[in-house]
Order: sequence, then C-alpha cells, then structure tokens
Amino acid sequence: MRSAPMTSSPFHNHDYLRLFTAQVTGLFGTGLTTVALGLLAYELAGAAAAAVLGTALTIKMLVYVTVAPIVGAYADRFPRRPFLVSLHLIRATVVLALPFIDQIWQIYVLIAVLQTASAAYTPTYQAVIPDILPDEREYTRALSATQLAATMETLLSPMLAAAALTVMSFHWLFAGTAIGFAISAALVITARIPNVTAATEGSFRERITVGMRIFAATPRLRGLLGLNLVVAAAGSVVMINTVNYVRDTLGGSQSGVAALLAANGFGTMLVAVSLPRVLDRLGARPVMLTGAATLLAGLGSAIALSFADAGGWRWAAAIAVWATVGMGTAAILTPTGQVLRRSSRPADRPALFAAQFSLSHLAWLLTYPITGWLTTVAGFTTTWVVLAVLAAGGIAVAVRMWPRHDPEVMTHLHEVGTIDPARLIDAVRVDDRFYRHTHAYVIDAEHPRWPTQQRLAESTAA
Ligand SMILES: [Zn+2]
Repeated sequence: MRSAPMTSSPFHNHDYLRLFTAQVTGLFGTGLTTVALGLLAYELAGAAAAAVLGTALTIKMLVYVTVAPIVGAYADRFPRRPFLVSLHLIRATVVLALPFIDQIWQIYVLIAVLQTASAAYTPTYQAVIPDILPDEREYTRALSATQLAATMETLLSPMLAAAALTVMSFHWLFAGTAIGFAISAALVITARIPNVTAATEGSFRERITVGMRIFAATPRLRGLLGLNLVVAAAGSVVMINTVNYVRDTLGGSQSGVAALLAANGFGTMLVAVSLPRVLDRLGARPVMLTGAATLLAGLGSAIALSFADAGGWRWAAAIAVWATVGMGTAAILTPTGQVLRRSSRPADRPALFAAQFSLSHLAWLLTYPITGWLTTVAGFTTTWVVLAVLAAGGIAVAVRMWPRHDPEVMTHLHEVGTIDPARLIDAVRVDDRFYRHTHAYVIDAEHPRWPTQQRLAESTAA
C-alpha cells in the first residue's frame, strides 16, 4: 500500500510555487486593468462607454479563441522561460501606456496587444506545468488550483480596485498593474523551467480536438455548454454595463462603480467559500442549475430595476442584483473543475480543460458584443431582456442535456473485435456479438459514445 497521499500538493515544489504566484499576479493585473479600463472608457466616451467596452472585450475574446490555440500548438518550440518573461514585460509596458491614451482606437490597439500576450501566456504555462510536476495527482491539483485562481481573480480584483480607488485615481491602478506584471516576470526568471526534451503527447490542436470530442459526446458536458452561456449572459451586465449604470443612471462616481463590482465579488466569494460542503452532499448538477436559475433571477431583477425612477433605494437594489449575479456565477464556476475531472481519463484532462477554456470564451464572444452595442442603441431594458432570453436558452440546454440520473459507473456494451480483449477481463460475454462491461464511464478511444439504455436492453432481449 502506498502511503502519504498528503504529499500530492503541488505547492511543495518551489518552481511551481513561483510560476503559480506569477500566474496569479498576472491574473490580478489583468483584472485591475479591466476595472481601470471601464473608467477610462467612460472618461473618453461617456454615454457610449458600453459600446467601447463591448468592442474592447470582444477583441479580447477574439484574440483568446484565435491566438491561444495557435500559440499552444507551437508552445514547445520556443525557449520557454525567456518567452514567458517577455510576455509579462509586454503586458507591463502596454499597461503603462494606457493612462496616456486620449483616443478610443488607441484603447483597442493596446487591448489587442495586451490580450495577445495574455492569450499566448496561458497555453505555454499549461504546457510547462506537467514537466515541472510529473506526478499525476500533483498535476491534477495544479489544474484545479489554476481554475480556482481564475475564479478568485474575478471576484477579488474589483474589491482591490474599490479599495484602491478610495485613495487614488484610476490612472494609478494602471501603474499598480504594471508593477504586478514586473513582479511576475521576476518570479518566472527565478524559476527553473525545463525546455522541452521529449516530444509531448500531441499538439495543442490535437489535444483541443480530443477535448471537443469528449465535450460533444458527454451529456453532462453538453449541459455545461449551456451553463457557460448563462454565466456569460449575466456576467456581461457586470463587465460592460456597470460603469454607465452607476454614472448615468444612479449618478454615482468612480467609487460607486467599484462598489457595485465589489458587491458582485462579495457574492461570488460568499458562495465559493460555502459551496464545497453543499457540493459533497448534493452533487454538481443541482448546485449548478440553482446557480443558473439565480443568474436568470438576477437578470430579471435588473430588468425590473431598469424601469425604476429615481430613488435612493435603487442603490440598495442594484447592490443586491450585482451580488446575486456574483453568487450564481460562483455556483456554476466552482464545481466546473470537478465536472471536467469526472468526465475524462487523467491523460485527457489537459485537453478537456483546454476545450472548456475555448468554449467558455466563445460564449463571452457572443454576449460581449451584443451587450456593448445593444446598450448604446437600445438602452439597458432591451439589452437585459435579450441577455435573459439567452440565459433562459442556456438553462433549457443544460436541463435537457444533463440527465438528472447521472451515475459514475455505467454498464455498457463492447462489440467483439472492436477492443483489445486484455481490457475486457472484467467484462461479461452476453452473446456472440457483445461483451457487457461495468466501470466508471468516460469518453476515450475505447468508449467513443455515451452508452444508451436502449442498446443495452436490445442486447439483453436478444
Ligand atoms: Zn468499457
């Protein structure tokens, strides 16, 4: 029997710890930049800030779904450490230039460069980790830690921004962010990163095809696709509409913007912290569907609020709506890693996490431009109604695709001759065509399709 499972924490590895800290610092830098960018857009565009933000964030998502896979496919050809360091330094430089912007198109150019560097960083970082952490369990934990860090960033950076904005102007946020990227670069310089020696298993492009195939064939993951859309629909209100809603409708200031974002972050944190125990008891599906219903309720309340006339109570209501959206988001994002782990063999996990990365960004790529442009031409009410319809569609997909009864272990059939007999030692021969096999079921080369009860019943009847 093997002992000491506690040593599977990846944080005992100093190189990993440095890289992880650099990754988190970079994430927070990007998050703070997003808050500051919203305020900058308002300074330049006023009432049209939503369109500017919608365009800037759409550029970001376009870059993410195009650049990240391409760089990922070639990530093992660059000397990795200099590459990662220079990506941090590029981001620091771009962020330092942002306060000097006085034209809207300059925002778009700098965002494109900033996000290209970010999009190139993620797959390279992901490719480095298995070389630093050859142990399978440590690596799986590292994947989860990265996902959790991304979640924590979305909720904590608005709060940091809110705190910072009470003592300084938003231009200083950009300076703080640049310092963060410089620290990240220094951490990467001091970490030992092996260059690729052996051939890695498949390019990022191949790995992403594997991930997409698993997504398409696994019912609970098809459900997750719908949930990605719900998160993006409600999240777009927070990301794009907060500035205009606070400044134009509520008549608030910079710190008012940060306060609503902080309420959103607080809701996220509240649920993320209390969720693990509930998850153990209920499982992922009811928790995530409740989260989706919460987001739809949040959008509904936002629509109701958009009809309200002036009144001090609108602040309290807006804070409640933004916090509700944060809570619903956390209820969907927190269990996502667990759902992905459950749906893949260890070897396919990087591919599946990469596929989720791309597919969730596709959802944002749909909702950001809709939110940005529709708000400017048609106002909050129409935009939020459209987003609520999208969210309702996402919920319908999730409920339909992800069956309520979703057991880990499933009985299924293997046709004689389609699978290595050595894999079927524990299988039962039912007739001259089929073996019946029972084990924890995930999509892989030997199990390309989800088992249906119908096929099983036919074989038993035959
Ligand atoms: Zn099997």
